[in-house]
Amino acid sequence: MRSIFNKIGWFIKQEWKLYLLMFFLLIFISVLALAPAYVLGKAIDVLISGALTKDSLVLLVALLVLLPVTRYFSSFLFHFLVNKTANKLTYQLRHNYLSHLFEMDLDFFETYHKGDLIARITNDLEAITVAATQLLEGIVFNVGIILFAIGIMSFTISWELTLISVTIMPVALTLLNIIRFKKRRYIQKHREIYSEMTEIVLESVEGQKTLRAYGQQKSNLDKQYKAIDRDIESWRYIVNYENWFNPLFEVVYGISYILAFGFGIFFIINQKISVGELVTFVSYIGMLYGPIISMSTIFTQLNNATISVDRYDEILKTQAKVKDEQDAKHILSFKEIEFKDVVFKYPFDKNPVIKNISFSIKNGQTIGIVGPTGSGKSTLIRQLLREFNVTSGLILIDGNDIQSYKVEAVRDLVGYVPQAHVLFKRAVDENILMGNPNANQNMLDKAVKIADFEKDLLYLHDGLNTMVGESGTTLSGGQKQRLSIARALIKDPEILILDDSLSAVDAKTEENIIDRLKEFRSNKTNIIVAHRFSAVRDAHTIYVLENGEITQKGTHAELIRQEGWYKHQYIQQMTMK
Ligand code: ADP
Ligand code: MG
Repeated sequence: MRSIFNKIGWFIKQEWKLYLLMFFLLIFISVLALAPAYVLGKAIDVLISGALTKDSLVLLVALLVLLPVTRYFSSFLFHFLVNKTANKLTYQLRHNYLSHLFEMDLDFFETYHKGDLIARITNDLEAITVAATQLLEGIVFNVGIILFAIGIMSFTISWELTLISVTIMPVALTLLNIIRFKKRRYIQKHREIYSEMTEIVLESVEGQKTLRAYGQQKSNLDKQYKAIDRDIESWRYIVNYENWFNPLFEVVYGISYILAFGFGIFFIINQKISVGELVTFVSYIGMLYGPIISMSTIFTQLNNATISVDRYDEILKTQAKVKDEQDAKHILSFKEIEFKDVVFKYPFDKNPVIKNISFSIKNGQTIGIVGPTGSGKSTLIRQLLREFNVTSGLILIDGNDIQSYKVEAVRDLVGYVPQAHVLFKRAVDENILMGNPNANQNMLDKAVKIADFEKDLLYLHDGLNTMVGESGTTLSGGQKQRLSIARALIKDPEILILDDSLSAVDAKTEENIIDRLKEFRSNKTNIIVAHRFSAVRDAHTIYVLENGEITQKGTHAELIRQEGWYKHQYIQQMTMK
């Protein structure tokens, strides 16, 4: 309970005026809730004593009408304020969470799965918001009712009767809550099961097409059903647990009712209290039941919220490993990039994928990288995107460690066209402009031209305005690649990286693109990872990567004269033509 208030204390401090207002409103509402039973008791005594006048009757009726009406409007105002506060808190928590996610590196996203991250910002966040807003109502209103009711019962009616009938309640409550506290463990487990379920459902939704293509709907559905069943099962367990306890409260309540009635009548006979007072007293016993039950669920909700706050906090506390150093430098252009004994290992792998790689690229050069699938070409070249830090060795830009530059600035140098294309459900031109939202029409046309995407526009029913379906369904593989290339080109990046981006285009289109790159990007740096040698044959230097190591380097002419992978592969490609 302390941890939750520690962690959202900043919000209560920030909104203290609102909280104070809500606090007094709640006190007022709890007094209003108790007043009618008190007035009724008085009315009965007046009636019995025969002192009822017309004036006092009007007053009584007016009070009995006005009190609930005032209570209604106060409650309305209170709930309006609670919702407002809850929305504000949800907004700020989501904002903090999402902006934190944007600062995270790939290391983080390999550690936390999507489903889990979503569960934390939906389910957990809701539990926190409930704790910070509705629980205030629970605590202040219920404690208010309990204290005021017991106060009136013992000070204006009879402290002996109060002692006799009410003592059983807190004793039973405390005992039950101690047992219930154990439920926390099950809740924690339920959260984990819920995250797993979200993950599985997400994966299935995203992979719909592939699943269908492989006729895997059924086995996948089974997997989803199992996950959902597990979720329901674990929730049912918690509810069952709860069901065991709630009837016990009713027993406790019944006992105090009997005690109040029995002893109350005895007290009336002995003229210690009046009939009206007993009516008020018994009404209050009835009114204590709700708040006492609520207080015990508040305990549970606080437990839930504490778990949730920890889960939320865990994410916010995680620091990205790739981040700007204190006085990170800006960079707009470069003369030379040098890899020095670079070793790289993925976070959850044992062995490095890149081993002791050293080479350099001068500004304005075109570099080719070839090698078998899985040899580490993408991994090597993506180091320039600053997704991870290198495991050992150095990447130097103009003699300075790449880590001494602003992460964003280094990424801005690069226009990266990945192997797998990510297109968004927007128009074609919007997809291209993502590379550079400030580009003008000329720049757009030029990018489209270099990427050899012009001819495709003729086939798209609405040209550049054609909507791209989810994951780019309306476009062919080659069109998607060319669109991705245009997206990178529109940025006119210092370094263009084509990471196997020409695999889905035919030989003629590839030639067009390579020719135009030579024409329009002759003074810029280009890194071309390719399978077809035709794409790299004019590169200043070609590197052959095998099993994470550079095994050959040279120009095309040099490499076909050397014994090795390049020559071997080249002959194979030639004979296949
Ligand atoms: P290439 O581009 O030459 O085909 P990659 O750089 O994509 O090779 O992959 C090199 C090796 O690294 C492969 O064995 C691949 O399975 C592994 N790998 C790639 N991405 C990851 C990742 N995110 N986590 C762990 N291993 C990876
Ligand atoms: Mg690759």
